[in-house]
Amino acid sequence: METIGLFGGTFDPVHCGHLKAAAEVRRRARLSRVLFIPSYLPPHKAARGAASPADRLRMVEIAVRRRAGFEASPLEVEAGGKSYSIRTLRRIRRLCPGTRSFFILGVDAFLDIGTWHQYEKVLDEGLFLVMARPGFDLERARGVLGGRFRDEIGPLAEAGPLDAAARPRCRVLLVPIPALDVSSTEVRERVRRGRPLAGLVPPAVAAYIRQRQLYRGR
Ligand code: ATP
Ligand code: MG
Repeated sequence: METIGLFGGTFDPVHCGHLKAAAEVRRRARLSRVLFIPSYLPPHKAARGAASPADRLRMVEIAVRRRAGFEASPLEVEAGGKSYSIRTLRRIRRLCPGTRSFFILGVDAFLDIGTWHQYEKVLDEGLFLVMARPGFDLERARGVLGGRFRDEIGPLAEAGPLDAAARPRCRVLLVPIPALDVSSTEVRERVRRGRPLAGLVPPAVAAYIRQRQLYRGR
């Protein structure tokens, strides 16, 4: 069975931390492909000095170009409105029958899942690959929502092949990748202060930021 990673985020902008983490997870989980899905985020909710949904999607497209197994998905940007994970999951499942999809997310994002729209349904219907991120303890994921999901959380290494006919025993698989300590916040701040972006974002993304004069405002 084909396995697809759904890697959602603001990607404002996409950076080398995202790319390295997704590559590590794809390799360890043997995913057929990873879809990078920038969220739409209505303009009034976006951070100050943030890029438009179209620019964020474009940067993801540039970043995944020529990277085998990575794709940019316009699903949420094109849908507009609020981007709900449950809706995205159901749409992908409808669009890609006969495949199995997994949310890919950092432990920081997973620990916030209680704030997601219909998070009970997301946890009930979804499968998750939760990856390490510098500054966050991966093991803390086990205590999410007061530990109610402890039995559903286990290491990827013990999950067996994810493309087997049977679903993995745990819905939430912990992936202890070596991650890069980079955030979009740091990238935006560096642009504002006129600092170089070498090593933080792919060169073509840095060129796009410069050319479109993104993140120059407050
Ligand atoms: P911001 O600083 O604006 O919050 P960010 O760097 O956290 O940006 P997001 O778009 O918020 O990026 O994150 C999208 C997803 O990528 C989340 O699941 C997050 O946990 C994960 N992620 C972001 N940066 C890293 C990293 N360096 N290593 C591992 N995972 C990461
Ligand atoms: Mg973030």
